Amino acid sequence: MSQNEPTALSDQLPELLTSIPGPQSLALTQRLIEVENQNVTCVEPIPPIFIQRARGANLWDVDGNRFIDLGAAFGVAATGHSHPQVVQAVADQSGELLHGMGDVYPSASKVELLEALARRFPGGVAAKGVLSSSGSDAVETAIKTAMLASGKPGILAFEGAYHGLSLGVLDVTWRSHFRSPFSKRLPHLTRFARFGDIEDVRVKVKEDSDSIGAILVEPIQGRGGECIPPTGFLRELRELCDDLGLLLIADEIYTGCGRTGRFFACEHEEVVPDLLCVGKGLASGMPLSACMGKSEVMDRWPRSRGEAIHTQTFIGHPPGCAAALAALRIIDEQGLVERSGQLGAEALAYLKNALSTQPGIVDVRGRGLMLGIEFEDGQRALAACDEALQQGVVLLASGDNSQTLGITPPLSIERDLFFHALDLLIQCIS
Ligand code: PLP
Repeated sequence: MSQNEPTALSDQLPELLTSIPGPQSLALTQRLIEVENQNVTCVEPIPPIFIQRARGANLWDVDGNRFIDLGAAFGVAATGHSHPQVVQAVADQSGELLHGMGDVYPSASKVELLEALARRFPGGVAAKGVLSSSGSDAVETAIKTAMLASGKPGILAFEGAYHGLSLGVLDVTWRSHFRSPFSKRLPHLTRFARFGDIEDVRVKVKEDSDSIGAILVEPIQGRGGECIPPTGFLRELRELCDDLGLLLIADEIYTGCGRTGRFFACEHEEVVPDLLCVGKGLASGMPLSACMGKSEVMDRWPRSRGEAIHTQTFIGHPPGCAAALAALRIIDEQGLVERSGQLGAEALAYLKNALSTQPGIVDVRGRGLMLGIEFEDGQRALAACDEALQQGVVLLASGDNSQTLGITPPLSIERDLFFHALDLLIQCIS
């Protein structure tokens, strides 16, 4: 079978050959706990499955069990796992140039990717950017850029926000679970307002107007629990920023690249941010991120005279750039942005119909293929997650108390497969 031939639905449904986790996963868990810092992979009370292979919306573990991935591996596999054209682009680029000299002697792929991202910047305004590897990197770039452009170090961020865990962004991430162990190392230059509450934003900005130079917002909070602010909130933030001379930073690491049914979620409200962070689905499986910004804002960085004041060894990594260029092409050619909007709306109606009146369910919400089922009790959401895994469906809980099941499948997931997985999930919840 050629790599591009479609796979029959029956060959994509869950196929469970062992107990979950199976013996090979259990054996790997035992080896892992000997060598990995115990904070990283959660091994109790239920040890993890270990993924061996992935394709489209399917994952196979080391025991040969086949799962449907309703999370696209943290939203990364936007075009599907190991899309043949993405894999080919990485292979071709790797054979040619595996690692370049990013900020000294760059590769053409870096130029092409920055051009492609600049063309997609909301509002069609002139844009420039900085590439990086992780979402946290991109948000750090945005914070530094905002400080250079505004002259102020403070940020207004939101309760529930997740912007990454590296030290540079921990200060703008909300949850004390992540912050408090390192609190003494943080600058505490962030004020948090209630997400979706423009009056609270006004109050907090006013209280700290000497320090705050930018507002940092996820158009929809992902790890915060698939939280969607009231319609008009982003536009109100834009207006407030314009009135007060603040920069608006959209963290679209999760929501970008078509996830919500527009290429960027801020386009739902025709909002043009000053800075925009993108990652996760951008390269559909390679670690690549970017902070893009209006040219006039980005140009507040000094010109490099040989020692860039912000760079990384792997900046503009050629295989990552090639993967992103391929992924963007696939997203366009297959109309995945529109598909995300349509399939997501259909799935939302289906889930609402099946679950809205279930006891213990607080809300079913979503935009595009970023859907959430919120439970009264996080323990029930986690139990549903575990039960779904036992049925061959992979998804994760989000929110401060893990109270929301996040559904963010590959944008390319086949409709019938998606609804089969949703049916299995509904059974686990009911
Ligand atoms: N920003 C948002 C909105 C995210 O959802 C995440 C990760 O989930 C990050 C930033 C951090 O990305 P990374 O884990 O790649 O550093």
